[in-house]
Amino acid sequence: MTHYICTGECHGESKTSGVCQADDCSKRGLPLLSCDCEDWHHDEIYEKELREKNDDDSLNFSEENER
Ligand SMILES: [Zn+2]
Ligand SMILES: [Zn+2]
Repeated sequence: MTHYICTGECHGESKTSGVCQADDCSKRGLPLLSCDCEDWHHDEIYEKELREKNDDDSLNFSEENER
């Protein structure tokens, strides 16, 4: 069953789509990500999020090297 999660600090989970509402979460106000996992570990979503973060870091790194 599809559910919705926040990949920020709150690690929020919801059965309906919406936005993160945790005051101390860096993703507050951002839409929750839909996930279809059955064990509620959301591994695919978190791994995808990590990969995207790593991509950003390597981009910034190569930009600094060019200066
Ligand atoms: Zn959150
Ligand atoms: Zn999940």
